[in-house]
Amino acid sequence: MGIEICSIGGFTKTEGNSVAVKVDDEVVLLDMGLSMFDYVRFTEDMEDTSTKTYSTLLKANAVPDYGHIDDWKTKVVAIVPSHGHLDHVGAIPYAAPLFPPSAVVLGTPYTIEVLKSILWDEHLEIPHKFVVLNAGSSYKVSKKITIEFVHVTHSIPQTAVVVIHTPYGKVMYANDFKLDNTPVLGKKPDYARLQELGKEGIKLLIMNCLYAHEHKKCPSESVARELLKDTMLSVSGEGKAMIVTTFSSHLARLKSIIELGNKLNRKIVFLGRSLDKYVRAGEKIGLVKFTDQVEMLRHRDQLDKIFKKIEKEGKGKYLIVCTGHQGEPRSILSRMIKGDVDFSFEQGDVVIFSCQVIPVPVNIENRQKMEKSLRAGGVRIFRDVHVSGHGAREDHRELLEMIRPEHIIPIHAEPAKGKMIAELALQLGMKNTHVMEDGERLSLK
Ligand SMILES: [Zn+2]
Repeated sequence: MGIEICSIGGFTKTEGNSVAVKVDDEVVLLDMGLSMFDYVRFTEDMEDTSTKTYSTLLKANAVPDYGHIDDWKTKVVAIVPSHGHLDHVGAIPYAAPLFPPSAVVLGTPYTIEVLKSILWDEHLEIPHKFVVLNAGSSYKVSKKITIEFVHVTHSIPQTAVVVIHTPYGKVMYANDFKLDNTPVLGKKPDYARLQELGKEGIKLLIMNCLYAHEHKKCPSESVARELLKDTMLSVSGEGKAMIVTTFSSHLARLKSIIELGNKLNRKIVFLGRSLDKYVRAGEKIGLVKFTDQVEMLRHRDQLDKIFKKIEKEGKGKYLIVCTGHQGEPRSILSRMIKGDVDFSFEQGDVVIFSCQVIPVPVNIENRQKMEKSLRAGGVRIFRDVHVSGHGAREDHRELLEMIRPEHIIPIHAEPAKGKMIAELALQLGMKNTHVMEDGERLSLK
């Protein structure tokens, strides 16, 4: 008995994050994420979505393999997504039904709202009760388990560091995070509580290692705002189209884009279902209010109408925000380039990519194709107007020094990066880093 960990997903490859923490005879599942690359490949040409089930997704390697905890399945008491990104929350609609209906799904308000909108979009339901927990609060799951959320910054609102309080010590789950002291939306990380937890003692820290190889500190989101400002306000785009494409769930980035669009006196339009989904989730819980400054257009007929209007009134009067930053062939930007909608690019039009290309071959190839078509028409391209949402090695160092855990397990990348965390921790005098692959178990006595 005591604490036992099973590394379900996000240890052998980057995505599909999920960890099981067993405390005597109860199990908490931290994150239940999709592997986006495999998920998109499996679903992109799917006409009949009823074939999208846990078992078909598992065969496609798109969801974590809960076969690793077959003997623990009936013991699950809580499912806890740390934030609303799909590689952390996206498998819940398919995988949660594998576990007892009595298990609660515990998340911050934005994370739960995103989860609800995914379920609504997919016409799915799960039998579990949703529990909304704000950062800075705790929820008693059972006699032995209390879960606490500590606020941290990332590229989606209301990301939490999850702390599981148990009779055998505290397990801290700090997956996606950056240490942003000047965030554009929301507060900076709750350093006071993190330091306090460090002093109280942490038995195990499960921490992100995605950028363990990058010797730097991840720049603040306010740097991204300056980059955008520098680009959008200095480009001489009078009378020309200006299009910005970024991550739909990155509400802080969208906030900056709106502020700058207002400065340019351009009417701002957000195009597509995905932007609509994440913005409305934020509005529903009172996190942002974009729709009084932005026209949101989700459906095909709305898009047809707005493109006609833009052509008629003049492209220079609008700021278009849309999906397509990874070159996705079905995105609005791709459809605009292909002429599937009433919009034609002209020489001198501006396209700003407020993102980085996620380095998988299909994205790299799609983006290259997209940029080639744009360049052929004389469109001006501004790449990488972006900073990451993931802490790098110097952020990892800060967290390790704040927490000084007894044990460390790296997550969210292949073991080579986990080993880099082990090296760093050792330099700091922390010896017990356990670099795991998917499906392994570790007992902590
Ligand atoms: Zn994330």
